[in-house]
Amino acid sequence: MKSLVDSIDEFKRNRKMEEDLEKAIASSRHHGKAKVSFHVATINKPQEEYKILVDNANKPFDHVFLERSEDGLRFIHPLEKLSVMDFVDNNNLIEKKPVKPLPLEETPFKIVEEVKDLKELAATLQSVEEFAVDLEHNQYRSFQGLTCLMQISTRTEDYIVDTFKLWDHIGPYLRELFKDPKKKKVMHGADRDIIWLQRDFGIYVCNLFDTGQASRVLKLERKSLEFLLKHYCGVAANKEYQNADWRIRPLPDVMTRYAREDTHYLLYIYDVMQIDLHIMAKENEQSDSPLIEVYKRSYDVCMQLYEKELLTGDSYLHVHGVQTGNLNAVQLAIIAGLCEWRDQIARADDESTGYVLPNKTLIDIAKDMPINVGQLRRLLKSKHPYIERNFDAVISVIRRAMQNAAAFEPVVQSLKDWRPGTFEKTIKPMIEKPGTEFTAYLKKQSSDVGVLPSKRKFDSDYKLQAKEVVKVSKSKPDNVIVLDDDDDTDEQGWERGDASNRALEMPSKGSLSMTQVPKTSSTEIVVIEDDDESENDSKSREDEDMIRRSEKHRRFMSLKRGFLNI
Ligand code: AMP
Ligand code: MN
Ligand code: ZN
Repeated sequence: MKSLVDSIDEFKRNRKMEEDLEKAIASSRHHGKAKVSFHVATINKPQEEYKILVDNANKPFDHVFLERSEDGLRFIHPLEKLSVMDFVDNNNLIEKKPVKPLPLEETPFKIVEEVKDLKELAATLQSVEEFAVDLEHNQYRSFQGLTCLMQISTRTEDYIVDTFKLWDHIGPYLRELFKDPKKKKVMHGADRDIIWLQRDFGIYVCNLFDTGQASRVLKLERKSLEFLLKHYCGVAANKEYQNADWRIRPLPDVMTRYAREDTHYLLYIYDVMQIDLHIMAKENEQSDSPLIEVYKRSYDVCMQLYEKELLTGDSYLHVHGVQTGNLNAVQLAIIAGLCEWRDQIARADDESTGYVLPNKTLIDIAKDMPINVGQLRRLLKSKHPYIERNFDAVISVIRRAMQNAAAFEPVVQSLKDWRPGTFEKTIKPMIEKPGTEFTAYLKKQSSDVGVLPSKRKFDSDYKLQAKEVVKVSKSKPDNVIVLDDDDDTDEQGWERGDASNRALEMPSKGSLSMTQVPKTSSTEIVVIEDDDESENDSKSREDEDMIRRSEKHRRFMSLKRGFLNI
């Protein structure tokens, strides 16, 4: 039994939460567009409240629901046993009329928060041919990120699954449905959703139609869902909730509505797009049908595998602003030290590194080099609960780092070698030697999951799909890999996710082209970082460094191999 005091506490907390939310909405109104706070500090952490178990150990993610290759080194996605053509429906498409959904108000709707409701939902999905899916997610108050909601729409109903309440049940009830190659899953810009489903529920998707990919193939002027809703359904969506704090419970009505809108119209959009893709094929008589192209791209989206962010010796170099900050060895040593400090805390407490110590603060501290608590205190401009609770620890990290600064001199040198335009002037002329295969370590920059390292095989004709940092692998030290961006962002303006090994078979698509540099110059490794997040239509992101500034730039850096420990 809950005591009266507990109940009152709970009531107060709920009331406070509502107030926070209202305030957040109100305060943003006079900046013009209504915006919602991405962080409501009074929410109890769902990981604790719902006993959600996460493994933040600094070890690679284990895809326990996937088979492994014979040598045990690789996970096998169920899609590998299927072909893109299995999903292309060519029958009488032109005759098929798009099925308009009922208005939201007239559509049966259910919040799924009990196991029995989930069971019913699974039975419903069992009986349909296709369904639409979307997820809402929080990345600020957990280390790896947390799925907050799962929206599902059939032709006739909308569902919102409370993923917190049903965390351990979602996989068992829905895994087979998502994997079923005969069931079409329609999603918009599914890159991240695919990864979140794997990470949180062990769900792997087969037979996806990604409306974001379709809008690229159809060359629509914009690729956002907001645009598609307007263009195909005449609906003005309320996108300001996109980046809200989706951990909030009970879900306010406005957010419920927003979440429903994200899947409610998707099956209809899919119908219309399918027809448009057929018309497009007829018009230009291309050999490869645009519809097939959409399925190929969607296949690639599904084939990405979640990889946990790992702390390595050079993680600190990927903190936004470090490479361009003109920092000395002492400052770099402090950054490396603080990165390690915050990483340990973030993993242990299941917080994002940006919550424990935001990148901007981290770099400000390093630049200032405070050696006592007073100096450190003076430098902090806003509230930093973690630093404030650990002043002494932070100072001792800084002091230790300062003693260790000499080890960072070579890094300073390498960073100095970097010049904008290095690529065009010195590297590009040496490249263009197509047809060679090599292995690369890729690091995908991503504002939510941080840096995702991955190792992939490429051939030099292949065009990559992500904004990535690339390192040459140990096994082929003679090759240097360069990524060159042809500036094609995804439907949300975010980086496209990792293409899979399969990508080898599909040259010339995606946003980055790659070329190989023979080891002829003193440059041994080229690291290229591109964090273009522009084109992000609907949101201004002022919230420090969990969300990086929109900027368009490319960086090239030449490094000595030893420096990256590879
Ligand atoms: P959506 O598919 O647009 O509903 O987005 C799914 C999730 O991605 C949201 O719940 C957010 O956690 C995250 N997200 C979407 N857009 C942004 C953005 N511009 N900045 C940060 N996070 C975002
Ligand atoms: Mn989405
Ligand atoms: Zn959504």
